[in-house]
Amino acid sequence: MSKVERKWFYLVFAVLVVAIVAYLGYNIYQQQVYPTVTSIKNKGVLIVGTSADFPPFEYVNQSGAIVGLDIDIANAIAKELGVKLVVKDLSFDALISALQGKQVDLVIAGMTITPERSKVVDFSVPYYNASQAVISLTTQKFSGVNDLKNKKIGVQTGTTGESWAEDNLVNTSVIPESNLFHYDKLSDALLALKRGDIDAIIIDEPVARMFVRTVSGVQYDFGIYTGEQYGIAINKDSKDLLNLVNTVINNMKNSGQLDSLVQKWFGSG
Ligand code: GLN
Repeated sequence: MSKVERKWFYLVFAVLVVAIVAYLGYNIYQQQVYPTVTSIKNKGVLIVGTSADFPPFEYVNQSGAIVGLDIDIANAIAKELGVKLVVKDLSFDALISALQGKQVDLVIAGMTITPERSKVVDFSVPYYNASQAVISLTTQKFSGVNDLKNKKIGVQTGTTGESWAEDNLVNTSVIPESNLFHYDKLSDALLALKRGDIDAIIIDEPVARMFVRTVSGVQYDFGIYTGEQYGIAINKDSKDLLNLVNTVINNMKNSGQLDSLVQKWFGSG
């Protein structure tokens, strides 16, 4: 190599090193910041976290696809952003940490807006009202909380149904703590009910109504009014995304599209 060639070689080498360092640095920076409307548009995908065991809000259909009312809402948000929708199926209890860990851009999972959750994430405007309910096998019927005395009760980990059962069954000594069974997936709670490991399940009322229509041998016992509202969970540092999501939901409410979706997924039964 001549002197001139060597100079050029070093120059090109130095430029390359600077470019690589800048590129890596930018990537690390991108990973540290919370998703924004711009970063999602740049990425070209909206990653939504859900727990697909909650029909008709989100469940796996016969073709193996995750579908439901929440997924339709997620699609409307992705459409507004002009990006592709990717749905990640996690256990319900893992959703908020997945959001905080930036594995997902938002969470839509029939999630109730609660004061505790609102401390760590933002919620969109509400899109559905719900309460709790008790379901059991048709071989025994429960008409109220008193009938649950010392029964074995199943709940889903991390849900408002679990908190209700702790506050109103365990802490009030209707059942001993050892009679409250916690499941990561609602499907596992249903299997346990069918096996006779537990006597009843406490779950959100709209999902209870769907289960008794689709799972044979299971009945709706009674409802527990809790006055819950579902919202979409978003990182506290993603305010422009929160605004966009609220606009989409408000538009869907005002245009009647949300009502049509409820009709589509719940039908008339
Ligand atoms: N609405 C309940 C909650 O937020 C249950 C949600 C669910 O199981 N997907 O805890």
